[in-house]
Amino acid sequence: MSLSKGTIKFSVNLKREVSEMRIIIILIFSFSIGMTQSGQLKVGFDIDDTVLFTEPMYATSPRDDEGAVDYSWINTHDKDYSILIDPTVDLIQYFRTNGHIVYFITAREGLNGIRLAEFLSHELEMDVHVNKNLFFSPDEKVNGFNYTTKHKTFNNLDLDLYYGDSDRDIIAALKADVYPIRVIRNKYSLKSYGNNYFGNTLEEVSDKTPFNKDDLKKFYNKSVGIFGESIYPIGWNNPQR
Ligand SMILES: [Mg+2]
Repeated sequence: MSLSKGTIKFSVNLKREVSEMRIIIILIFSFSIGMTQSGQLKVGFDIDDTVLFTEPMYATSPRDDEGAVDYSWINTHDKDYSILIDPTVDLIQYFRTNGHIVYFITAREGLNGIRLAEFLSHELEMDVHVNKNLFFSPDEKVNGFNYTTKHKTFNNLDLDLYYGDSDRDIIAALKADVYPIRVIRNKYSLKSYGNNYFGNTLEEVSDKTPFNKDDLKKFYNKSVGIFGESIYPIGWNNPQR
């Protein structure tokens, strides 16, 4: 049986397409191997109580009838209230100067988020842009509980490490298969926002809050938290209030 011209042409085109596909697959595979071998890390940082001491700002923020802070106000007032947490800034500079990629992921709402980006750019002397290396991932409320949404952002960014101070930061990292590291919350912030910190070490001991201040010291001493996370061992105790 002889093949028609059309059949031969189709066969040649098919071979060419298969060959091109093979080249593309090899290129993608080589590229992914190259990325892995580079050892470049993607490192995420929380903002409040991790990069910035912001307790006085939140204490001053306008609030609605239900006590919720006004994030459009918060994101425009870091310049007036927020203080850099030096040990975290050192970490950021360490990762950047060694060729790793730094991201900021906060549970703040993104209203006027560009102003926070401008503040971080100025203070950290790096380019920070919303939805490039600064992401807003507010909690969502389900059946009366606040749940983090940060893990979705972590997955999108394919993060390797995440530094944060709250329980929800650690939970988000675990859900996204990102290595979690707890930054020690400053004593003033701990007093104001004890909730969501090793359960809540300020509450009476109960099933929901089984750890007290003495237990917190044990966790700090061992540099491990209730979710098995590492605790960054350098504390920061001297905000100018
Ligand atoms: Mg925080």
